Amino acid sequence: MHEISIAGAIMDSVLDAAKKNNAKKVSEVFIEIGELTALNPEQLKFIFKTISAGTPAEGARYDIRVITPLISCEKCSYNGPIEFFEKLHFLLPVIKCPRCGESDVDIIAGRECCVKKIKIS
Ligand SMILES: [Zn+2]
Repeated sequence: MHEISIAGAIMDSVLDAAKKNNAKKVSEVFIEIGELTALNPEQLKFIFKTISAGTPAEGARYDIRVITPLISCEKCSYNGPIEFFEKLHFLLPVIKCPRCGESDVDIIAGRECCVKKIKIS
């Protein structure tokens, strides 16, 4: 359940942004989460709702987009999605190039965990 600490960090940045913009209320929060973070969007939403009680973000809607992992392989110059990764119980799954099997690949997407924008009023 690493969702709790991450949700807390996300909520802090949302509330911080709301404060900087003198927002009375946060109506919508757009978040991007890479599939490799193993975060569960439904769990996150639930935690947001719980921890936002009494803050300007109380009652906000959460739009969570899950980003498909993409890799880039220097060995065979493959660029694209991975075919398979083990169901994630840990943060660093073994990721291999689906074309040549190289495991030393660059992950170009899939580890995001950020607030893209918020709607305030
Ligand atoms: Zn490759």
